[in-house]
Amino acid sequence: MSKRLIFATGNAGKMREIREILGDLGYEILSMKEAGIDVEIEENGKTFEENALIKARAVAACCDDLVLADDSGLEVDAMDKAPGVYSARFLGYDTPYEEKNQYIMDQVKGKTRTARYVCAIAYVEEDGAGHVFTGVVEGEIADHARGEKGFGYDPIFYYPPYGATLAEVSEEKKNAISHRGRALAQLIAYMKEAER
Ligand code: IMP
Repeated sequence: MSKRLIFATGNAGKMREIREILGDLGYEILSMKEAGIDVEIEENGKTFEENALIKARAVAACCDDLVLADDSGLEVDAMDKAPGVYSARFLGYDTPYEEKNQYIMDQVKGKTRTARYVCAIAYVEEDGAGHVFTGVVEGEIADHARGEKGFGYDPIFYYPPYGATLAEVSEEKKNAISHRGRALAQLIAYMKEAER
């Protein structure tokens, strides 16, 4: 029987992505809901790594399976690395991203535009051993929003090597260089090595 791997998320998009990327490793991949796990998790860490591990450990405490969790966000240098771990809650969960994005563009006017997306993925094994893999993509805050693809801050996240924002490129092109793609690549390398 294949090992169960629980992904600590309620986000259907992330589940689809993780199934696609880890699909050929031979695990039975389940969401928390599919595994019948319902825990209230307070993301009170100061870093992406801490938050990812908090989530993974909270779920691991409810099962005997392998557990994955992630935490990600945008760091803007001219804003002292805000919104950072508050990226989802920044200016309010329900505030439209058009507003959040305009606010950030206003903040960086006349200042350095450098910014990065960071993604930490925590992996907790059956014996309780925890590992965290971090992926980063460096970019710049655009001077106006461009593109309809992606989500969140993508229309203002300009990636110089593509000469475009991440809302202007295909999902495939984004995943090839994204913070999440890079963190997942490290996780996969670790899992493949651990299998041997
Ligand atoms: P999480 O789901 O708790 O990791 O929240 C991540 C938040 O960071 C999202 O709600 C977005 O605001 C932002 N974010 C993370 N990754 C991306 C991305 O690839 N594009 C746009 N926004 C992102």
